[in-house]
Amino acid sequence: MMGAMASVEKEIFVPAKTGASTTLRKGQLLRLTDLDGRQPIDFWAFSQENPWEHLSCEHTKTSIQRLYPVQGDSAYTNYRRPIINLVEDNSPGQHDMESAACDQARYKELGGTADHPNCQDNLHFELKKLGLEIKGVFQPWNLFTNFLLHADGTFTFEAPNTKPGDNLILRAELDCHVVISACPQDITETCAGNPSDILMEVGR
Ligand SMILES: [Zn+2]
Repeated sequence: MMGAMASVEKEIFVPAKTGASTTLRKGQLLRLTDLDGRQPIDFWAFSQENPWEHLSCEHTKTSIQRLYPVQGDSAYTNYRRPIINLVEDNSPGQHDMESAACDQARYKELGGTADHPNCQDNLHFELKKLGLEIKGVFQPWNLFTNFLLHADGTFTFEAPNTKPGDNLILRAELDCHVVISACPQDITETCAGNPSDILMEVGR
């Protein structure tokens, strides 16, 4: 399980429904652990040199010719450069690149309230902490997210198949800022109805 990460330099506990961020130098590793199981993580990465260059799900899918990266694949930027590599996947490997981050409007659409915690607000809170003045709606890479695509073109949001302790290890391919959100979705099956905590570790 600990394979690719020999030393841990920083450990950040991410409580359910909240976000977190860190900066990575090229070559540094990031381990993300689903502590209790069945908890998706919204993930974004922005180049330190120019934050307008960021992880783009659309560009990634074109480059790898898959709906989402699997172990060994990279995620690419909107300038078509690898920014993050999925070095080791100790999970069932469902890492959706289709669905937008949950936001105030989505919770209202589902009959909830506009003050529901959401991944879009978590992202912008973390970007402000990083000192990045970038406004916009950025497509997250939805780690551990069981977005099930059917042969007729429809899809359903299923509970993730992750077990407690399932994790993945990502490697920075560019100096970058990364933001994650422990998705607070408790209306659909996205988090199996029970949003829970995440562990983020930076190392080598
Ligand atoms: Zn969310």
